[in-house]
Amino acid sequence: MTPERRAAPTATVGVEACARPGCAEAIVRHLSLPEARKAFPDLADGLRSVALCRLHYKEWKKRTKESRKLDRLGW
Ligand SMILES: [Zn+2]
Repeated sequence: MTPERRAAPTATVGVEACARPGCAEAIVRHLSLPEARKAFPDLADGLRSVALCRLHYKEWKKRTKESRKLDRLGW
């Protein structure tokens, strides 16, 4: 049996860095992994959300705009 356990809220939240390697800018936006991967396919597996700084969020917006043809698989 594996009882559902929630991580302590103070343990991992707080220190965040941009998900892009080598980037240490302040976070402005969180995306789900599938969303973020539309622009950054190299993101690691297992992330629940992807934090992006202003710069990389801009980049994400740009790239996702260009790939509009990839229709959302309806949900
Ligand atoms: Zn960044």
